[in-house]
Amino acid sequence: MRNLVLLIVAAALAAGAQFRAGRAAVDITPPVGVPMAGYYYVRLSEGVHDPLHAKAIAIEEDGVKAALVAVDLVGIPRPVVDAARAEIGKTTGVPPANVMISAIHSHTGPDVYERLMGAKPETKRLIDAYMAALPGHIAECVRRAEQDLQPARVRMATGREDSVSFMRRYYMKDGSIGWNPGKLNPKILGPVGTIDPEIPIAEFETTAGKPLAIYVNFACHLDTTGGMRFSADYAYTLSRLLAEIKGADVLTLFTIGAAGNINHIDVKSSDPQTSPQEAERIGTILAGDVLKAWRHLVEIDPAPLRVSREMVTLDLAKHKPEDVAAARGIVARYAQPNADPFYARVNAFKVLELEERHGEPIQAEVQAITLGRQLAWVGMPGEIFVELGKALKIASPFPRTILAELANGSIGYVPDLRAYPQGAYEVVSSRVAPGSGERMVDSAIHQLIAMYPR
Ligand SMILES: [Zn+2]
Repeated sequence: MRNLVLLIVAAALAAGAQFRAGRAAVDITPPVGVPMAGYYYVRLSEGVHDPLHAKAIAIEEDGVKAALVAVDLVGIPRPVVDAARAEIGKTTGVPPANVMISAIHSHTGPDVYERLMGAKPETKRLIDAYMAALPGHIAECVRRAEQDLQPARVRMATGREDSVSFMRRYYMKDGSIGWNPGKLNPKILGPVGTIDPEIPIAEFETTAGKPLAIYVNFACHLDTTGGMRFSADYAYTLSRLLAEIKGADVLTLFTIGAAGNINHIDVKSSDPQTSPQEAERIGTILAGDVLKAWRHLVEIDPAPLRVSREMVTLDLAKHKPEDVAAARGIVARYAQPNADPFYARVNAFKVLELEERHGEPIQAEVQAITLGRQLAWVGMPGEIFVELGKALKIASPFPRTILAELANGSIGYVPDLRAYPQGAYEVVSSRVAPGSGERMVDSAIHQLIAMYPR
């Protein structure tokens, strides 16, 4: 009898400490007519190539709950994150601070930043209504993932792919730095830096070994589809193929790694590279990489689950007050395509945004979620240069560290210190002062060292 009681107590303790995972997806495809993201002029959507989703993987270890969320959008504005977390606090048992919400950076999603100069009132009403409903959809997704929590295991592997992503900044023969300098451009000397070929994969499965969810991360812009129809870009094909092979109810949650200066354009080839077929090609290759890595998945001990975050104060990029008047003129002409040179437009938007802040620094949330001694997720807002992502992976005390960029907000491009004096697009566009990216990496490393179980 005494032994039986001990057995029951031991079983209860084991159950209490047991790791659980759940997953869910909610459709967030906007109505046709909502303006599309990604470029410096208004484009109204004309259809849907594939539906957009908010996806969540909820996890629980020893009573601590957290959620990893990805939305098929170009970015996630901080007010949407705040509103979604507030709703999550009301409607779920997941603490709002333990939710990492990242955008996959699809350029064929809606224009979440609402750069709508020249747009008609009905267009504005459509996107306003969409944005107002978005936090509720994200919270609903986390609520359903929490409901789905079930005893689970976590397995990890790292796939590799070095044929689909490219540095998009180039040393040019004239000494300048070229940004997307064009296919077969004879003035190219070579790329500035190297890509990150790693594809971290975390698979969540039932204790019987049935896959529930696959978390996949890769550093390459999702700007391959083009056109005027909504699409989750290559992440759509990746998810579709893995569901075909691993099971229709297996959720693939993709996040983008540090890809601020990486895209899919191969300047050494003359092949056109913007089409749904190109997205399909890349998604298929990445799905193949996940399947190749599958047999190397190794179970990890997920205890303890820890979450940490820090608000890092970032100084603003410098702008000249005398540029403000010209910037207003350029932005006023925004609705007319090609009214002004590209860099002049990029700079004008930055100047006006900085001017409006009156010197108020940018607050960036750097968040970390860790499982045991083996796996760490780090979320950073903005489009992070790959050099910063690689520095984080090297310095992290965890053997596997996944960086999701555009997480918990969007602060624009975050170049590394070296890139600022080199200039070109990302630097012209960046709202934050040189050294900001290094400060975020520093924050992540300090948090991870403190979180590492001793
Ligand atoms: Zn981008």
